[in-house]
Amino acid sequence: MQAVLSLNGISKSYGSIKALKNVSYEVPEGSVFGILGPNGSGKTTMLSIILDILKADSGSFAWFGQPGSPETRKRIGSLLETPNFYQYLSAVDNLNITEAISGRGNAADIDRVLEIVNLLERKKSKFSSYSLGMKQRLAIGAALLGDPQVLVFDEPTNGLDPVGIAEIRELIKSLAKRGKTIIMASHLLDEVEKVCTHVAIMKRGTLIVAGNVDEVFANEDIVEVSSQDTDHLHNLLNGFNGATKIKQDDNKVQLFFPQGTARLEDINRYCFENGTTLNLLAMKKKSLESKFLELTND
Ligand code: ATP
Repeated sequence: MQAVLSLNGISKSYGSIKALKNVSYEVPEGSVFGILGPNGSGKTTMLSIILDILKADSGSFAWFGQPGSPETRKRIGSLLETPNFYQYLSAVDNLNITEAISGRGNAADIDRVLEIVNLLERKKSKFSSYSLGMKQRLAIGAALLGDPQVLVFDEPTNGLDPVGIAEIRELIKSLAKRGKTIIMASHLLDEVEKVCTHVAIMKRGTLIVAGNVDEVFANEDIVEVSSQDTDHLHNLLNGFNGATKIKQDDNKVQLFFPQGTARLEDINRYCFENGTTLNLLAMKKKSLESKFLELTND
C-alpha cells in the first residue's frame, strides 16, 4: 500500500530540550494512524512539522511521495487547536468565514461538511449555544472544507465528556469509511485502540514502535507463579519449553506465552516433578494498558 506520509529521521530541539529524536515511520493510505504518547512526548511537535508550521532541525518528510508544496497542502485538512469561531455567529456563517480565509471549499461545500459532522439541523444556531462536543465537531467540519484526502487532528477528543468522545470516534470512523487517511495524536490508549488501524508510540521524543495496531498490541497469555524460593523457581522455569519470555517480579515469576498457548497444568506438573510446589499459579491476561505501560516505561 502506498504511503501517504513518510518520515525520515526527523529531529527537533527547543534549546536543550530534544522534542524529537531521529523519528522515522510511514503512514499507509486509508489508515487511521494514531500517534500515541504521554504529554510532552513530541506529538504536537511532529504534527506541526508535517504541517509546515515548524521546521525540523534534521531529517525529511514526504507527502504522497513528494516534498511538501502548496499543491500537496491542499490535500491535507488539519485541526491543531480549536479555531477562533465567532460566538454570536451561526455554524454556517462561521464556516463561510473559514472558507473565505482559507480558500478551501465553496458555499456548497459548507452544507456537505455540516452533514458529515451531524450539525446540518443546527446550522443556523449561534456557536455560543453549542455544546463542547458540537463545537469540536464544527472545528472538524472546518478541516473538511475542500474535501481533503488526509486529515490531521491533535487530541481531537480533549476536554469532551464520554458522549462527546463517542461522537468524535464515530465521526472519525465514518471519515475513514469515506476513504480518508486520518492522522491523530492522542495520549489515550483507549481512544487509539478503538479507532486506529495503525499506531506510532512515542516516549520523550523517541519512537518506541510503529505499525499495525494488531501487531503492536498483540495479546499474550501471562502466567504468574510463585513458590517459597522465587530465585530457584525462576531458574527452574528457564528450562520450561513454550514460554517466549520469563520475568521475575518481586516474589512472583511471570511467564509469557503466545496467545492461547499457556497450559497451567503443564507448568504445575513440570514444577512438581522438579521438586518445587507452587503456592500461586494463575493466568493473567495482558491488558492493553499494561502493554502500553510496558512500552512507554523505562
Ligand atoms: P502534549 O500532549 O502535552 O501537547 P506532546 O506529546 O504533544 O505533549 P510536544 O508539545 O510536542 O509534546 O512537546 C515535546 C517537548 O517539547 C516537551 O518537553 C515540551 O515541553 C517541549 N516544547 C514544546 N514546544 C515548545 C516550545 N515552543 N518551546 C520550548 N519547549 C517546547
